[in-house]
Amino acid sequence: MQKVGVIGAGTMGNGIAHVSILSGFDVVLVDINEEFLKKGMATIEKNMERQVQKEKITTEEKLAALSRITTSSDFNDFAQCDIVIEAATENKEVKASIFKQLDEICNSNCILASNTSSISITEIAANTNRADKVIGMHFMNPVPIMKLIEVIRGHLTSDETVHSIQELSTKMNKIAVGCNDYPGFVANRILMPMINEAIFCLMEGVAEAKAIDDIMKLGMAHPLGPLALADLIGLDVCLAILGVLHKELGDSKYRPCPLLKKMVSAGILGRKSGQGFYNYN
Ligand code: NAD
Repeated sequence: MQKVGVIGAGTMGNGIAHVSILSGFDVVLVDINEEFLKKGMATIEKNMERQVQKEKITTEEKLAALSRITTSSDFNDFAQCDIVIEAATENKEVKASIFKQLDEICNSNCILASNTSSISITEIAANTNRADKVIGMHFMNPVPIMKLIEVIRGHLTSDETVHSIQELSTKMNKIAVGCNDYPGFVANRILMPMINEAIFCLMEGVAEAKAIDDIMKLGMAHPLGPLALADLIGLDVCLAILGVLHKELGDSKYRPCPLLKKMVSAGILGRKSGQGFYNYN
């Protein structure tokens, strides 16, 4: 593999592009509008500069990596890619439409991976004529720092595709851990109920936001409290994942907290909007 396509220049997409170019891959980063692409590129440059300051990479490595990325708003630019990693909005219809287009544009050997947090890989694959080459490649946030890639095998994903993704993950200096296709897979099936419960604690006045996070950080040795983590993930993304868990598993224990729904309706989305459970302005 040499050429990687990335869809979505948001929180995850720009991180996946960042790691890919630093690992020596050529990247085409596509988003629906120019503004998102500019913002995504600015984030990549800022985060790489931080790595230079911390002496994790040299200025030469940063410049060489940045020379390997191009941006576009046209899916046709994926035609020569060996793999396309989709990191667009967590919405079934959006992903269905993207995979239909990718299947038509990309060459028949190209692997189509989704960074979805919760949506069925088998259902996403059903929008293509290459279900054996569709796989979940679930990076963790922040991508340049977190080691894990949760690799999700759809019902028809081939062993060869799984093997290619394991190799690619190693080249990206990540550790791939495999699981099967169930709503929320492993990471979010366990993480989201905890975050949701923390929001219920806040709504019911059990404690203030900072106290809830401090109790979980100091008491459970979590690096970040659940509310600060929700702000980092994006409250809209958390709500979308809980929606999938609730609908697909049919258990009321996954019902999204009303306070979370209210915040998302009000446009309070966490770090990306400047305000979540904490203020970032
Ligand atoms: P985000 O809202 O920050 O970014 C999504 C980007 O996708 C936006 O820039 C948007 O313009 C773009 N987009 C939407 N539709 C598109 C289309 N049709 N074509 C091209 N671009 C399109 O979201 P995010 O947090 O980066 O999440 C992206 C995916 O990664 C989701 O599936 C999410 O569940 C998953 N994920 C998120 C996290 C997290 O912590 N935020 C962690 C792991 C996985």
